[in-house]
Amino acid sequence: MKRTDYIKWDEYFMGIARLSAERSKDNSTQVGACIVNKDKKIVAVGYNGMPTGCDDDEMPWERTGDDPLETKYPFVCHAELNAILNSNIGNLAGCTLYVTLFPCNECAKAIIQSGIKRIVYYENKYADSESVKASSMLFRKCGVETEAYVPSGKKIILDM
Ligand SMILES: [Zn+2]
Repeated sequence: MKRTDYIKWDEYFMGIARLSAERSKDNSTQVGACIVNKDKKIVAVGYNGMPTGCDDDEMPWERTGDDPLETKYPFVCHAELNAILNSNIGNLAGCTLYVTLFPCNECAKAIIQSGIKRIVYYENKYADSESVKASSMLFRKCGVETEAYVPSGKKIILDM
């Protein structure tokens, strides 16, 4: 008889996004992303981090500072952008992005330009921010579907 407690596709892809977030060095926000093509094949993963070549130990990770250059914001590459740029296929047209946090307006532009047509997000805690209002507007105008991940209640514990 077939096993019945296997994880569903949405749990699998959001699980990979959440696992990817565990790679982030950011103390306050860990975001992960997983891009899937129409055949349910994973074509990219990413998490928020400093650009390749920047020493994580030398870069600022603060959220506030008198000088913006002493904060992480000008430097960190978001999970969605990293996933798009790390993709192992040339064309993401028609793909779905699973992401742990609703994309910001900067990532929205990259998502739209890449051809990704659907976004499944785990949480949207900055829904009232200008950035997320802008990204929502861009997605709506450009025909990118966004949907909240529906929690299944399943817990996965991995002994590593
Ligand atoms: Zn972003």
